[in-house]
Amino acid sequence: MPQALPTFDDVIAAAARLEGIAHKTPVLQSSTLNEQLQAKVFIKCENFQRMGAFKFRGGFNALAKLNEVQRKAGVVAYSSGNHAQAVALSARILNIPATIFMPHDASPAKLAATQGYGATVIGYDRYSEDASAKAMQLAQEKGLTFIPPFDHADVLAGQGTAALELFDEVGELDALFVCLGGGGLLSGSALATRARSPLCKIYGVEPEAGNDTQQSFRKGERVKIPTPITIADGAQTPMVGAITFEIIKALVDDIHTVTDAQLIAAMRFYAERMKMVIEPTGCLSLAAAIQAAPSLKGQRVGVIISGGNVDLARFAQLLATLP
Ligand SMILES: *Cc1c(COP(=O)(O)O)cnc(C)c1O
Repeated sequence: MPQALPTFDDVIAAAARLEGIAHKTPVLQSSTLNEQLQAKVFIKCENFQRMGAFKFRGGFNALAKLNEVQRKAGVVAYSSGNHAQAVALSARILNIPATIFMPHDASPAKLAATQGYGATVIGYDRYSEDASAKAMQLAQEKGLTFIPPFDHADVLAGQGTAALELFDEVGELDALFVCLGGGGLLSGSALATRARSPLCKIYGVEPEAGNDTQQSFRKGERVKIPTPITIADGAQTPMVGAITFEIIKALVDDIHTVTDAQLIAAMRFYAERMKMVIEPTGCLSLAAAIQAAPSLKGQRVGVIISGGNVDLARFAQLLATLP
């Protein structure tokens, strides 16, 4: 079913719904990083958002817009992790029953958190099963509302409130780096950027193994790839969304990619220098900014950390691979 493309007004409306409910996350700077890049880097820390990632913004915005009948019937979603927690927590706040499909190999921390918020979790195989189809089928059978992880006007408008807050706090920027899976955060950020800082370059950042959006962007139409194998589990999407891609095509400047090794180096930087535990996917933006450093000299650069949810054992194991 085609939806009208959301606009900046929808991001503003989402910000009003989230007022007093979502955290206004901090924007941090590191003098080490500023010196290294010879730039002023403003890091928007969505790892400090409720449930540990920006996804609370979009999930809550979508659920808050449901009518009484829809709320009573409940919602269904699928996710490898953070969208699951976002929908589960939003549903608990709004007193809506939630069913979430999560892959069998989802991070134990994310699984436990989702169940802890009171959602019913159903497992699936992320490499062989179509979770989206399963969720939509259950929605149809039980009259539930399906809340997609990114390809939805209310979800992406909610995600755009993180960049909106960044611009409201620090003013205009020369470049903004955004972690990218299905494109909810990037498309929402692009709507906010074009309104608040029209000349700012916007870059989406994907794992090198999962560069479906980069391929799509260059080709001008969506390209689907096999589920990529990368440590960035929040960006293992095989294809960018239809709605998100329309916005990305129109408003984003380019899509960058980084390797898993670059992600681990960024994880170490955040831990050592800024005392923050950031999940691999949340490091995409910084890894790309470091890679693009020669072109950023003297600029004001935004980096959105998308989330911080990683099992500590996994975190330690990844850092131990560094020389
Ligand atoms: C979901 C997620 C992403 C990707 O977001 P999209 O809106 O699908 O592009 C990036 N980082 C983290 C931590 C996520 O949870």
